[in-house]
Amino acid sequence: MRKILVVGAGQSGLQLALGLQSKGYDVTLMSNRTADEIRSGRVMSTQCMFDTALRHERDLQINFWENQAPRIEGLGVSVAAPGSHEGPDGTQRAIDWVGTLDGYAQSVDQRVKMAGWMETFAQRGGQLVIHGAAVSDLDFFASRYDLTLVSAGKGELVSMFGRDASRSPYDTPQRALAVAYVHGMGPRPEHPGLEAVRCNLVPGVGELFVMPTLTTSGRADILFWEGIPGGPLDVFQSVKDPEEHLATTLDLMKTFLPWEYARCTKVELTDANGTLAGRYAPTVRNPIGQLPSGGRVLGVADVVVANDPITGQGSNSASKCAASYLASIVDHGDKPFDEEWMQAAFDRYWNTAQHVTKFTNAMLAPPPEHVLNIIGAAGQIQTIADRFANGFDDPSDFENFFYDPDKANAYLASFSG
Ligand SMILES: Cc1cc2nc3c(=O)[nH]c(=O)nc-3n(C[C@H](O)[C@H](O)[C@H](O)COP(=O)(O)OP(=O)(O)OC[C@H]3O[C@@H](n4cnc5c(N)ncnc54)[C@H](O)[C@@H]3O)c2cc1C
Repeated sequence: MRKILVVGAGQSGLQLALGLQSKGYDVTLMSNRTADEIRSGRVMSTQCMFDTALRHERDLQINFWENQAPRIEGLGVSVAAPGSHEGPDGTQRAIDWVGTLDGYAQSVDQRVKMAGWMETFAQRGGQLVIHGAAVSDLDFFASRYDLTLVSAGKGELVSMFGRDASRSPYDTPQRALAVAYVHGMGPRPEHPGLEAVRCNLVPGVGELFVMPTLTTSGRADILFWEGIPGGPLDVFQSVKDPEEHLATTLDLMKTFLPWEYARCTKVELTDANGTLAGRYAPTVRNPIGQLPSGGRVLGVADVVVANDPITGQGSNSASKCAASYLASIVDHGDKPFDEEWMQAAFDRYWNTAQHVTKFTNAMLAPPPEHVLNIIGAAGQIQTIADRFANGFDDPSDFENFFYDPDKANAYLASFSG
């Protein structure tokens, strides 16, 4: 039986560990936290996952929370009119629409999912080692396994994987992130019966994403500010008190996005660990890490391709990476997992991941005119709104109508007359 070590128990590591386990591999999973520590710890993400990524979980029959988590049927965009927050009522929106997703999206708090999956892995006979691995640990352990996969997210182990400058246009964080999980948020009055991710853009300032989730205390909503560094939203770094974090979140909503603030008159934090603030530079890395004694390890998901969460893609990508690597491992049979195989496994994943990176990096930059035209036209033409919304499930489609001004103009022209 082939022995595989998975280091890091997040979306990608656990999905891979459970998938390999179900195919008969001898899997050891190393996690720096126990299931209980994860469950009672701080929120880590907003983890909205679209249809393709959810399907990978269904394929492995690990979609344990599908019937409890809200079904997100729409994805909407609102753009604050320039200067609207300075006006007397502050309610103008230059753009406001919602697209329909072909398959629903869902967000299950990673505290719920990772803790549950970790317990399942152990119950099914997997070897679970609770230990924060250092490079020296990997150096010691890797030679005892046929393959070592490093799925430890954006933590210190990324130092083993060199930055790929040709695929990483930014070398500093492009947004300051601030998340608050709340109970008691009201529905969007425009579509009270429809669960949707709402993307609210404040030009030159940042974005607020609102979405329903399933958390440790049941259904909740997430308020997620992405602020341009140094701007008016970049104020969370020194906030340590969760209630102050929520009050700041709401104050900024009142100033910039009063239509979302109006839904929040009765909100309260889900729990004392329901807030998160931070920032990181989006980075693509070389997929193969070299250990001091010469062994090789393969990086997984965020370790090798970490995008800004502005497009809500990281957990989706982690699921797609885990599914792709699982297929590459199984396809390889009994042959050695050498450097050539590792590069090929990553390249297979990069076929999908490159589109996520391109879309995400594009959305971090100020939008060019043809992009504004597409987002504006989606308010008049539902087909465009739906296509944009479904691009979050499969960002490769943006290549056909979004980036290139000629293709964007031709697409818009196809609706005239
Ligand atoms: C604010 C925010 C909002 C987001 N919103 C979305 C969204 O809506 N949709 C979406 O798809 N993505 C979203 N993402 C991104 C998504 O959460 C990540 O991309 C995804 O979780 C990455 O999965 P992963 O398996 O690569 O790593 P992680 O989920 O980070 O898991 C890594 C695990 O390894 C553990 N670990 C770290 N170091 C070690 C070590 N040395 N030894 C052992 N274990 C270790 C960590 O504790 C963790 O449990 C968001 C991210 C942030 C920060």
